[in-house]
Amino acid sequence: MNDNSQTEGQSTTETPTDFIRQIIEIDLANGTHEGKVHTRFPPEPNGYLHIGHAKAICINFGIAEDYNGVCNLRFDDTNPTGESLEYVESIKKDVRWLGFDWEDREFYASDYFEQLFRYAVKLIEKGKAYICDLDSEQTREYRGTLTEAGIESPYRNRSIEENLDLFHRMRVGEFEDGCRTLRAKIDMAAPNLNLRDPVMYRILRTTHYRKGDQWCIYPMYDFTHGQSDSIEGVTHSLCSLEFENHRPLYDWYLDKLEIYSPQQIEFARLNLNYTVLSKRKLLPLVENQIVNGWDDPRMPTLSGLRRRGYTPEAIRDFCNRIGIAKSDNIVDIALLEHCLRQDLNQKSTRAMAVMNPLKLVIENYPEEQVEELEAINNPEDPSQGSRAIPFSRELYIEQEDFMENPPKKYFRLSPGREARLMHAYYVKCQSVVKDEETGEILEVRCTYDPDTKGGWSQDGRKVKGTLHWVSASHAVPAEIRLYDRLFLKEDPDDVTEGQDYTDNLNPDSLQILTGCLVEPGLATGKAGDHYQFLRQGYFCVDPDRTVGRLVFNRTVPLRDTWAKVQRSGKR
Ligand code: ATP
Ligand code: MG
Repeated sequence: MNDNSQTEGQSTTETPTDFIRQIIEIDLANGTHEGKVHTRFPPEPNGYLHIGHAKAICINFGIAEDYNGVCNLRFDDTNPTGESLEYVESIKKDVRWLGFDWEDREFYASDYFEQLFRYAVKLIEKGKAYICDLDSEQTREYRGTLTEAGIESPYRNRSIEENLDLFHRMRVGEFEDGCRTLRAKIDMAAPNLNLRDPVMYRILRTTHYRKGDQWCIYPMYDFTHGQSDSIEGVTHSLCSLEFENHRPLYDWYLDKLEIYSPQQIEFARLNLNYTVLSKRKLLPLVENQIVNGWDDPRMPTLSGLRRRGYTPEAIRDFCNRIGIAKSDNIVDIALLEHCLRQDLNQKSTRAMAVMNPLKLVIENYPEEQVEELEAINNPEDPSQGSRAIPFSRELYIEQEDFMENPPKKYFRLSPGREARLMHAYYVKCQSVVKDEETGEILEVRCTYDPDTKGGWSQDGRKVKGTLHWVSASHAVPAEIRLYDRLFLKEDPDDVTEGQDYTDNLNPDSLQILTGCLVEPGLATGKAGDHYQFLRQGYFCVDPDRTVGRLVFNRTVPLRDTWAKVQRSGKR
């Protein structure tokens, strides 16, 4: 997997590090756009934002920030089907969460409907647009193909007067949905299909979430975007590569309308392996309840990543590292996870949590005694201090940390073997108590060495295994949710005929562990709090937690495959 960005690992802007910043610096030097930088992030409110949008957000807001410019948040809401206020709100929340601020520049393309209508009238008056009565299927047939020129519509040469009359009657609702369109009069033989008399307006009786039933004609994306940019004084309209062959049309409209022309520049979309990044594909997962909503922690949405425990800093770091490239590529999700671990390692309080508890009794430890042992909160950040954790005769350890008949390289606890209890003492296994019928191990019986307090022996005696644990009578029960990739294949769209990406879903992407036990200090954790559970990974408190119920999400396990590959020089 090759990341062909030009900026990997860099985050400074002292020298322009990517091709967009290079263009902008040239523009600034030449005084183009009056030396201003004004960008916009233009989501359509028809779904929640995903990590791909984070890239576009970081580029648009980041570039504005770097050059003392501003960035607008503009809702590109010209297609009433599927758009909603819920999506608008979620988008605003996510952009803010990422750490960007559009101040008072919150715009809606739907607020330009009247102006866009006037622009359309202007093009009709200039003889540059006409009302076409072909239906959508005919329109497609007449368009031709990449190798064949299109055929001109029989309605192409209507008089300006007739076009104006029909357009106004379209607006007031005289015609059925879909029976007429307004089209730009460009060139049916243009090699670029987007220039073969593209549709500007269609008739569609669908209630708009902001404009209600005020309109029954809606402008197409291409007839909206550039004009919206122009109205707002956007200087550099940065968008993803799929709009590259729309640029001639973008420029054509602005040119023929004789209005201010922003400059459209395209960059490669973010693609991540094991992930689908398209609202069109994410929506069915939500609607068909394959996941538990847009913010399901397995979703690549920003709300899902947030709930999973991702931090905005990690996502911004990731966006910086992948840089801005001109050609499509696929980024390894291990890089995203690496950025996350880097950040969480600094931030997360360490704690002990036992996922699959096995009782451990210390036979030579006094029955009623409880010791408060000191545990450091974060070795990476001494300012986080330390905490006291209770230690007593009866503890729980992880089931997998004990084996009655261990293989050779097993260094944890087994009969006759000594191991360290983190922050506590050395314990040595003396015997096991089993269920007589099933043979299941119910208890591990140990003795402890009082001279190893803190987990260090005075006589220099070494042990290889260090175990996490909780005190039986102090521990707090918790539910822990473990997540795996949502898709089994690196390319979820790699399917055989008749299948689709949902056939590549991982049936085991969610595992819920109940009956886990965590150290008592975690009882007060609030939704979103981050922890590193020793030896287990990074976790956060899920919003499902209630007064009597603790719920954690595993954000990411500890093992960093990205760093490992980097170190071995394979990348
Ligand atoms: P989707 O395919 O998920 O529906 P979209 O492009 O239709 O995405 P928009 O709401 O139109 O979604 O996107 C807003 C902006 O985000 C656009 O400028 C688009 O270029 C950008 N964007 C969307 N997906 C990505 C991505 N994967 N990588 C980078 N930018 C993206
Ligand atoms: Mg779109």
